[in-house]
Amino acid sequence: MEKIVSLCKRRGFIFPGSEIYGGLTGTWDYGPLGALLKKNFKDEWWKEMVERRDDIVGIDAAIIMNPLAWEASGHTEGFTDPLVECKICHERFRADKPEEQDEHAATHKGEKVTWTEPRKFNLLVEAKLGVIEGEKSTVYLRGEITNGVQVNFKNILNSTRVKIPFGVAQIGKAFRNEITPGNFIFRSREFEQMEVQYYVKPEEAEGGKWFNYWKENRMNWFLSLGMKRENLRFRDHAADERAHYARFATDIEYNSPMGWAEMMGIHHRGDWDLKRHAEYSGEDMSYTDPETGEKYLPWDIETSSGVDRPLLFLMLDAYSEEKERVVLKLHPRLAPYKAAVFPLLANKPELVKLAKSIYDDLRKQFMVAWDDRGNIGKRYYAQDEIGTPYCFTVDFESLENGDVTVRDRDTAEQKRIPIKSLAQYLKENIYGEVHN
Ligand code: ATP
Repeated sequence: MEKIVSLCKRRGFIFPGSEIYGGLTGTWDYGPLGALLKKNFKDEWWKEMVERRDDIVGIDAAIIMNPLAWEASGHTEGFTDPLVECKICHERFRADKPEEQDEHAATHKGEKVTWTEPRKFNLLVEAKLGVIEGEKSTVYLRGEITNGVQVNFKNILNSTRVKIPFGVAQIGKAFRNEITPGNFIFRSREFEQMEVQYYVKPEEAEGGKWFNYWKENRMNWFLSLGMKRENLRFRDHAADERAHYARFATDIEYNSPMGWAEMMGIHHRGDWDLKRHAEYSGEDMSYTDPETGEKYLPWDIETSSGVDRPLLFLMLDAYSEEKERVVLKLHPRLAPYKAAVFPLLANKPELVKLAKSIYDDLRKQFMVAWDDRGNIGKRYYAQDEIGTPYCFTVDFESLENGDVTVRDRDTAEQKRIPIKSLAQYLKENIYGEVHN
């Protein structure tokens, strides 16, 4: 973990938030490479969930919502008591219920459980909205992105042609007054989430089928991004640890330096959200089957993931040290740069000119790095460390033969490739696109 934190800082992936002012606990700033990596990760998710599916639409709801929405979703009432938090698993308990704390401590079988000081707090982050002092109203920065989807259920039905079963996808920031932020970007106070609320017919068999479908689907997606199978596992929630809305819940956990830790959750929310929003808003939130005319409140199978937390795990999973080089074996689709272009020697104008023209050409389609400092070996290592899958070097032979050396990040193997087929080479090797 320390190596990843230091690599992230040194190479511009992630910096401590507002660092020059001593930082702000639980906040992180993504630097030039981190912003690219995070964008690639979110884009992959969006393509997979929205662009390549007929049954899911995407939305982008406001972070600040009418406070009633948080009453309806149960977020305001659950977090207003003085709470203590178990320092091992971060589960929170009412400070006025010592018997519950004792019962919980026993589940850690022999480990010494310590508790945070009791605090009256609300997990939701408050903000003041309005222009006139004294007339500003208290609102919340959303504690999770689910609610923005649920409150738009009717709007989505009325404005699109979705039919049950269908999903609504969203990516966006969430804020939580975590008592114990820590472990780098694992637990922050400001973070991003990506979720699909998938609405199905309220029947046990249907709910079970889609719950299992999304479990497998999400696991397979992380595997397709190159994560090691042995570092991932499912963990079903026991009845007493499920959130207030969940009928079933499973986490996908990662084998992290802190132990197995939640990366994302799959939750069977039943009709909790739509029912509560119908009750609190007075709106009819039901769905009418266009064929049978049957009217019902659908059940919601949610896949709820962070963006930052899986990114941390993807980086940990990809990090490797091989002899004198550090290699971040990120999936090429996630890598900040898809390739780097080098002139063999920076003081030979004819090499620089050709290399620059290749660089300018490739950048029209891909994020590409340029480097002409130091020797080639150092440049390779610098790219390995940030996960660049391919390096193209222009040498004297290139001037005569019209080809360059391509060096592969993972194998360090080198071969010659015609300059005119470099873009196609990247497409095939990164995105699996084959054109004749
Ligand atoms: P935890 O038990 O670790 O606090 P949670 O069960 O409260 O997490 P959910 O509410 O299910 O988390 O949120 C879904 C996902 O959002 C989590 O699996 C995680 O990836 C991400 N997430 C939640 N809280 C944070 C946080 N404070 N910082 C970063 N990511 C978070």
